[in-house]
Amino acid sequence: MRIKLHNLIFLGMILGVAIGLGLWWANERAMEAGNPEPALVAYALWWLDLLGPTIFMGALKMIIAPLILASIVAGVTSLPSLKELGSIGWKTLAYYFATTTIAVVIGLVFVLTIRPGKKEASQEIRAGRLAVLDEHRRQYQSETGTPALQPDGSVQVDYLVWLSQKEGEEAAHGADASRFEKLAGAQHRTAGDIFKEDIVQPLLMNPFTSVAANPPNALGIIFFALLLGIACTVVGGRYAGSVIAFFHGLNAVIMQVTHWLMSIAPLAICCIVAKLVAENGPGIFETLGWYCGTVIGGIAVHVCILLAIAATIGGIGPLRLWQGIREAWMIAFTTRSSAATLPVTIANVTEKLKVSPKVANFSLPLGATMNMDGTALYEGVAVIFLIQIFGGLDDVHITMTAMTTFLIFITAVLASVGAAAVPDAGLVTMVLVASAVHLPVYYIPLIFAVDAFLDMFRTSTNVLGDSIGAVVVHRLEKGCLGEAEP
Ligand code: ASP
Repeated sequence: MRIKLHNLIFLGMILGVAIGLGLWWANERAMEAGNPEPALVAYALWWLDLLGPTIFMGALKMIIAPLILASIVAGVTSLPSLKELGSIGWKTLAYYFATTTIAVVIGLVFVLTIRPGKKEASQEIRAGRLAVLDEHRRQYQSETGTPALQPDGSVQVDYLVWLSQKEGEEAAHGADASRFEKLAGAQHRTAGDIFKEDIVQPLLMNPFTSVAANPPNALGIIFFALLLGIACTVVGGRYAGSVIAFFHGLNAVIMQVTHWLMSIAPLAICCIVAKLVAENGPGIFETLGWYCGTVIGGIAVHVCILLAIAATIGGIGPLRLWQGIREAWMIAFTTRSSAATLPVTIANVTEKLKVSPKVANFSLPLGATMNMDGTALYEGVAVIFLIQIFGGLDDVHITMTAMTTFLIFITAVLASVGAAAVPDAGLVTMVLVASAVHLPVYYIPLIFAVDAFLDMFRTSTNVLGDSIGAVVVHRLEKGCLGEAEP
């Protein structure tokens, strides 16, 4: 009897958790006994890293750039005319905008009603931070001879500058230094800088540089591919026929490579999960349990709304949808990258859900790059959670007013559009949201510990949202496409 691929992937996930817990446990026992990491654990981790993140994710990432280029050119050039492209384009963007907005609103409602930052465990974190700040005030006074607080109890501006430098330096040398470096690098940019550097410049980048960049410049590839596809359509088959045939051929060939890669997914996913569990262990959830619960609860409600949209507008029930995209969902959950999952998403959506490649080839690469419902929801929850814990401390003069909530809403939408489709990207773009409400970035590392875990839920929701988007647009367009509905 042949076991189906999605069952094997699921088995791989379970096995990965078991292996990861075993390795984590062996490491903990060794540490308790005062010994270094056992050689066997280090050896196992090396192999897990090689087989999972290095080979499998590396191979998926290897094909993303040519896949986006080929699939969009193939998608655009197979449309009967440019009118259909416009029609598919605006429907896709309208769906992305609507679902991202819904996601952020759900996140805000959840975090403002559950108030995870006000729970006991969070307040213990606040008490710990208060003690650290007391120590900082004393140190500042002994170094500069001036008290940190003014006679009326308000905080000295010079002390705040001193504090932010000190905290920044500490975070930059701590255990999570490399992740913090990314955050710190992002914090001094204005919205204008972000527009110019993250949108305009990448759009117009030389396509060869876009394809060769690591990670590839998806926005630039999409824009170039659209231009190329439109130009091919305008020039017509007589002159551009060979260009069109080339990209259709490339698209088909890369889908074949995707199928080969999917066959090793169960083993690779077992390795990715085992490594993640072995490195983090189950203890991280003790203090941040309410926060994780709020994000996951919000995501669960958003998923229900997406399923309702799929059923009503897309005409496809939850079971059929799940059967169609379960492999992509599981790969997204474990690789934590919408981009790495893209080849499998396209394969699932076109082959199993029978969405027309004319729609899927265009909307899925675009969705993987800019439609991130899970990320948008998480951005708002994370920043408000931190404000709930630390609001009112020396360096966090923020109160949750309607204006603050609105600012968080807008920047969370933007941050999700700007996030790259790679692991931890949401954490980096969160700096935009935090800076908008003047939350110092050195508070963000508090949630590093659970970020990989939450990224699994965000990424799988991002991929689900993109897939349902393709189904919905296909259904709305089916008259024009002249194909069977999914
Ligand atoms: N990892 C997510 C994705 O690839 C982005 C994020 O970090 O939220 O879709």
